Amino acid sequence: MSILYLVGTPIGNLEDITYRAVRILTEADYIFCEDTRVTAKLCQHYSINTPLKSYHEHNKDKASKQILELLDTDKTVALVSDAGCPCISDPGYELVNQARDKEIRVETIPGPNAAITALMTSGLPSYKFVFLGFLPRQAKEKHDVLDKWMQRESTVMIYESPYRVKQTVKAISEIDSNRKISLGRELTKKFEQVVTEESTIIEQMLESEEIPQKGEFVILIQGQDESLQDTTWWEEMNLKEHVEFYV
Ligand code: SAM
Repeated sequence: MSILYLVGTPIGNLEDITYRAVRILTEADYIFCEDTRVTAKLCQHYSINTPLKSYHEHNKDKASKQILELLDTDKTVALVSDAGCPCISDPGYELVNQARDKEIRVETIPGPNAAITALMTSGLPSYKFVFLGFLPRQAKEKHDVLDKWMQRESTVMIYESPYRVKQTVKAISEIDSNRKISLGRELTKKFEQVVTEESTIIEQMLESEEIPQKGEFVILIQGQDESLQDTTWWEEMNLKEHVEFYV
């Protein structure tokens, strides 16, 4: 049976991959990936010899057609991104849609995600959160998006480049200088750094290079009112009844 697998891969530490992901990548007929050089390193580490093909933002229409044709001929295809989860701030969801339209089975092999990793490590409230991906580059548009989402109770998650992190933290401070934020830098990598402080303190730490403006960043902003992160509904439910494992 043809299956499209969406496979989570490490966001830094090569050991952060599941047994199932390694098996599926080994057994698939093809792996479609953003940058074949990046995925080749992962494959080499795990002795995976599956052929690699390109699927990225700039060829996705053509590559999707090729993937759907392969799936039509009973092949299995694994889709990965350079790091983390395909489809999350990475290409893939349109392909999933097209596969579903053709009634092709789609399975996700869960794996690391930078935003969730940052949230878990930050100590910020985590029962309610919104993920905004990358913000607009223009100052006014960035300010408007931040202003809108910073009025809510949810923790806000943003992906940011090292070239704009200082400017974005400044924009957050201008809206609310007392707001707690967390910077997750180089998560799971050798120089991982996670700092949770008021935004003005983070601004100073960036200015003084105590937090170097290098590497990959996730910015988290605490919600407007922590007390609104109501967890009582969850505690009242006996969710453990539904926990079940299988192989
Ligand atoms: N699909 C990925 C995921 O599941 O997290 C996200 C891909 S997105 C194109 C890349 C952005 O994710 C980076 O610019 C950075 O903001 C964030 N990111 C990825 N890896 C990271 C890491 N190890 N530490 C901090 N941020 C990371």
